[in-house]
Amino acid sequence: MFEISYDELGPSKILHLYSAKRGIKAIVVVDNAALGPAVGGVRVSASITTEEVIRLARTMTLKSSIAGLPHGGGKAGIIADPKDPKKEEYIRIFSRMIKDLNDYIPGPDMGTDEKAMAWVYDEIGRATGLPEEMGGIPLDKLGATGFGLAECAEVACPYVGVELKGARIAIQGFGSVGKAAAKFLSMRGAIIVAVSDTKGCVYNPYGMDFKELSELKQSTGSIINYQKGKAADCEEVFSQDCDILIPAATPDVINLHNARNVKARLILQGANIPVTREAEELLHKKGILSVPDFIANAGGVIMAAMEYAGRVEKEAFDAISLKIKTNTGLILERSKHKNILPRHAAEEIAKERVLKAMDYRGY
Ligand code: NAD
Repeated sequence: MFEISYDELGPSKILHLYSAKRGIKAIVVVDNAALGPAVGGVRVSASITTEEVIRLARTMTLKSSIAGLPHGGGKAGIIADPKDPKKEEYIRIFSRMIKDLNDYIPGPDMGTDEKAMAWVYDEIGRATGLPEEMGGIPLDKLGATGFGLAECAEVACPYVGVELKGARIAIQGFGSVGKAAAKFLSMRGAIIVAVSDTKGCVYNPYGMDFKELSELKQSTGSIINYQKGKAADCEEVFSQDCDILIPAATPDVINLHNARNVKARLILQGANIPVTREAEELLHKKGILSVPDFIANAGGVIMAAMEYAGRVEKEAFDAISLKIKTNTGLILERSKHKNILPRHAAEEIAKERVLKAMDYRGY
């Protein structure tokens, strides 16, 4: 049985919601709201657990803090099939259940999108990641997080002696984050040597075309039948011979079982919590640089916060570039000088700001 562990930051609220009439179960965690109302996505998954939502909410606290946003961190999980035809109904019911939880602002995540956020907004009058027609900046359509990953790569590559132009990249997941990362990194001259989705992995050491992969995913729902690559199991994306590895799908995918097989020199954590703590230590010992999720994938939340503050698309992209480049440099320098994991360097900085805000507010 999982036991909740509390620390100096939180979690401050853990809610288990149940709609008896419809049998809908959901979990909401507000980890910390000292910096402002907590932002964090609503994940729809049949297998989401309280433990996962708690960990994801903490990631959001650290992400918002280090990005200098006026927001805390939270997360929600609706335990359901994201392809359920009754999705609109259960998202609306979930929204009504969190109407009075004013220190949590929902956003999109795996299993929800701009349309889902429109339903949430319609019910409770607050959400980020809204469609353009409702005043939103469509962060997934624009590839905010993938853009941020490419900005992060520009700063991190020199730390491992990799030239971004010509760097070989492998990406797990070809959804909003993975696809946009592939796009923005290809635009900077990187070569896609492997990609995966739920159906499997395709690889080609000489490179694969972003547009062709993207069209294939759009038309068939998967990249697995890409003709100019070889197909393999999902897991093989992690052991590909490449310079940069980007896990951009599910949690804990790089762990003690496969970390030894990683050949990349740089890992950019596109997904939230894709690398276990133990694997992060092991990778560090192996000399593989792993930029933590709450630094590398902050593009989405930065754009969401800019949208919430009424700013426009160009301002959001400028903010992503500035914040991610600055923070990547900051944590990699601190990590080098103190000989600590990049994650620990980032946590030190992020926690400091939250703790100060808690102090001011008399928490
Ligand atoms: P998405 O649903 O758009 O895409 C997920 C992709 O991962 C899909 O292509 C799916 O086929 C693939 N996938 C799922 N399980 C897989 C597996 N076992 N092996 C290989 N591929 C698999 O989701 P997304 O918005 O791209 O989010 C991906 C991750 O990034 C999540 O952890 C999310 O929390 C995180 N994240 C997203 C954003 C954002 O802006 N969307 C921002 C920060 C972090």
